[in-house]
Amino acid sequence: MKLSELRKELAGQGGAIVLEDKIDLLGYRRDSSIALGGNPSAAVIARSVEDVVATVVAANRRKVPLYVRAAGSTYAGGANPCDGAIVLDTSALRQILKIDEDRGLALVEPGVTYGALLAELGQRGLTLGVVPLTGAAGTVGGAIASHGLGTGSPRYQSTGDEVAGLEVVMPNGEILRTGSAALADAGFFARYAIGPDLTGIFLGANGSLGVITKIALWVHPKPSHQETFALGFPDYESGARFISSIQLKELTHNVWYGAGYEDKAIEARVTGARPQFERAALPRFCLALDARGAREEVVRDRARIVAEASRFGGADFAVFDEVFFAKLRRDNTFWYSYAGYFARSMCALLMCSMANETIPRFFRVIENNRKAYPELTWAGGLVLCRRGVHGAVIVFYDEREQWETVRVASERCGAELLAIGCVPYKSGRVWAPMMERFRPYHATLANLKKVLDPNGIMSPEVLGL
Ligand SMILES: Cc1cc2nc3c(=O)[nH]c(=O)nc-3n(C[C@H](O)[C@H](O)[C@H](O)COP(=O)(O)OP(=O)(O)OC[C@H]3O[C@@H](n4cnc5c(N)ncnc54)[C@H](O)[C@@H]3O)c2cc1C
Repeated sequence: MKLSELRKELAGQGGAIVLEDKIDLLGYRRDSSIALGGNPSAAVIARSVEDVVATVVAANRRKVPLYVRAAGSTYAGGANPCDGAIVLDTSALRQILKIDEDRGLALVEPGVTYGALLAELGQRGLTLGVVPLTGAAGTVGGAIASHGLGTGSPRYQSTGDEVAGLEVVMPNGEILRTGSAALADAGFFARYAIGPDLTGIFLGANGSLGVITKIALWVHPKPSHQETFALGFPDYESGARFISSIQLKELTHNVWYGAGYEDKAIEARVTGARPQFERAALPRFCLALDARGAREEVVRDRARIVAEASRFGGADFAVFDEVFFAKLRRDNTFWYSYAGYFARSMCALLMCSMANETIPRFFRVIENNRKAYPELTWAGGLVLCRRGVHGAVIVFYDEREQWETVRVASERCGAELLAIGCVPYKSGRVWAPMMERFRPYHATLANLKKVLDPNGIMSPEVLGL
């Protein structure tokens, strides 16, 4: 495409910035994933919804692929363009449009960061249900478009579950509002309007069905008290049964974050901080919890959870909280103490959801891959949800020497995870080659895509579409 044409076409809209210099485009080639990126022909930094409409219409007229990118921190390749594509950068659409305390929701543009929104809500004693652990920089649009989870997941599950409605620029340039806002006079307040849930088809779509331009999110009172604690279990089986039990009994109501750790991580954290600690006394599995709410409720629930753990052979594992978890949560560095690796080296991430009974097999898959690829460093962890858990397999590698090995290893590991009943999460491009296994579900998604995006310009190949 002649870029000067695109620039001309977008001039006079909302003031979009069109980048076409190869140097400016380098940062748009890849997100934080190991999925291969391409060389885009242009990047458009949208500054208004009109810019988004104009860019989508221009790309459609020329049948040029278009990829949406916010902070680019996804590790699934959803923001990675193919060669010649246009990247639509939504990070400058960052206005908090309204905090409506009567309706209990915040209306924001997609490029608003969690850092900015939480700061604004915090001044009013409010917070969000689910906040990914991307630190302050991740955007609301990027999180809901890629099924984010994190703090709040034991209580509210996924970022998408906290969305009351959306404004979306469709591939033909039309502007759609979902939920109650389908009726302009009603505005955003309910997720469902007439018929099925149209909001849901854009959540986790990774930009493949439209560009999200407004998001209505439920807001909640900010908990007044926070404490952390850890529980150790003799094996993964008893840990898994314990998780099912506290979820079913809804003892997790005041748990805002829960992380499951395997034996290797437990040993490294504890003996790293306390070299004299007797290794034989260490549990095989640990669930560490961050509880928030009114102090008396948190204290009561904690006692109930510890009592429940003892029914499954579990016990308080205070040293893990002391040497690692409490600090991680208080400092808001979260489980991503690994984040440094993104800067120094690279890591491949496979994220999946699973039923609790799959947990022991999940850790076995990691152990088998550790043995098969001893030259790579493997780690695994769980994030507690309202029901079931999310699992992360992390493979650290040296970018220069181990690129091919890690790609082959993580593909093999992905296939093994599907075979034991793990379901892709953060799909992007990383899971795309395996989408064939999801028939007829995936075929239905492909049909939907054909109807909404007949020229197939929106994020081709992402989600295997
Ligand atoms: C250190 C670190 C920690 C992380 N922790 C977590 C975590 O705890 N939980 C979690 O879920 N993820 C986590 N992630 C992954 C990632 O940061 C999140 O998915 C994040 O929410 C993505 O937001 P982003 O603004 O970077 O979006 P991007 O990476 O720019 O985009 C993500 C996807 O959304 C699409 N998209 C973006 N904006 C729009 C839009 N307006 N309309 C349509 N599609 C759009 C993109 O095309 C892409 O497919 C982490 C990543 C890192 C590097």
